[in-house]
Amino acid sequence: MSISTNKLFNNHTSDNIFQEFEQRFRSILYQKYTHLSALCIDCYTVSQYKLQENVPLIEGLSNDTFAYSIDVKSDGVQRAVFVAIILSPELYELFKFTEMEKMAAIAHEVGHIIHYFNEALSTAGTMIIEIKADEVAAKLGLAEPLKSVLHKLKSSKRYSKEQCQLMDLRIQMLNYYNVS
Ligand SMILES: [Zn+2]
Repeated sequence: MSISTNKLFNNHTSDNIFQEFEQRFRSILYQKYTHLSALCIDCYTVSQYKLQENVPLIEGLSNDTFAYSIDVKSDGVQRAVFVAIILSPELYELFKFTEMEKMAAIAHEVGHIIHYFNEALSTAGTMIIEIKADEVAAKLGLAEPLKSVLHKLKSSKRYSKEQCQLMDLRIQMLNYYNVS
């Protein structure tokens, strides 16, 4: 943890999408969200993640195309921050995500990690948190592919009515980013 690598991702998967994302978006992300440069995000598949010891248990992981995980450990002197993005190769195969859609989904998860450390959002509900994560993707110019990810998820019938309503709302908010 003491070595500052200034690498956005430590990719443990065989998917090069993370390297591509890093090449394209790392500097713009570091400019907009300076605290992000202090973190290195581990990237795992669902099955890799499940083999990790001492990582937070994530509920419903098998139904998520992408997810994030954060663990902050402090012994009073030192603070160790574990941040990870988890992807489900089976699910994104199923949804036939394009490269841009995968980038948008990754940007959304990076958005969660960015805003996890945003104290202004410490009491915010699910809806606001999802919208703030989408905002990060929109600022990278990924609003359109993120919308098509949400459309695909919605029409899959894998998600509850409440989850679909939230997706609808997120699509509406993303439309707003396109206009502005
Ligand atoms: Zn989310």
